[in-house]
Amino acid sequence: MPNEDLSPARRIHPAHGDAIRIVPLDVPDAVRKPPAGASATPAAAPHLSYRNGPLIARPEVFSIFWGPAWQTPPQSTLASQLDQFFDFALKSPLIDQLSEYDVPHRTIGHGKRTGSISISRPALAHSVSDTAIQHLLQQEISGGTVVPDPTPNTLYFVYLPPGVKVVQGGSASCQAFCGYHNDIAGQIFYAVMPYPGCSGCTGGLGVLDALTSTSSHELCEAITDPIPGQGWYDDVNGEIGDICAWKTRKLGDYTVQLEWSNRAKKCV
Ligand SMILES: [Zn+2]
Repeated sequence: MPNEDLSPARRIHPAHGDAIRIVPLDVPDAVRKPPAGASATPAAAPHLSYRNGPLIARPEVFSIFWGPAWQTPPQSTLASQLDQFFDFALKSPLIDQLSEYDVPHRTIGHGKRTGSISISRPALAHSVSDTAIQHLLQQEISGGTVVPDPTPNTLYFVYLPPGVKVVQGGSASCQAFCGYHNDIAGQIFYAVMPYPGCSGCTGGLGVLDALTSTSSHELCEAITDPIPGQGWYDDVNGEIGDICAWKTRKLGDYTVQLEWSNRAKKCV
């Protein structure tokens, strides 16, 4: 994105609250609170509009499993399964269905997983902030040879181990969200996936299915809106995955989340 204005002021769309880039908790409809200002008038149908920012046209996913727990079963098995999920999903109809969001000079197509790393240091406490995750990413990128340098197509997925809460935008995993994606200065694109250790973040699914569902949500959102609010976005409903949160389907052997289609006017 050499032509992008990377000034910090442009990093977050003015209408974009932090809460809207996240995978929300799965809450039964009966206890879901109506949005502030909700009235008897039905809300406008969701519609994503393009805000002229970058897309991740050919996603190259690199997964980072943080914490020693990922190096022994059952989490080591889970890590391999998540890598296999990306190997499959990045060349699947899940990506093809996003082509309705192509824009001039940015054609969304199949990508690949470029690698994976399990790291045990720095040690994690009971909670970790988004700032600390950004710091880790930048350290791993500059300090090592394993984690690739960022490109306009690179998307890092950071997975946290059981028992570690993630704090971002004044809220926490399992209290307000189950995952999110973000950018560093418009140049490093990443998603953060806390371990689903609460019913709101498993959504009645097994741990692998919950993680592939939330990972697919963040993958499709990062592709279509890598700088939150500057790609395809709906000011009321958020990003492509937010509109369809916790509506799932099967993609091969995997559970993925439905994504909003402007063309079909529904979650597909
Ligand atoms: Zn989302």
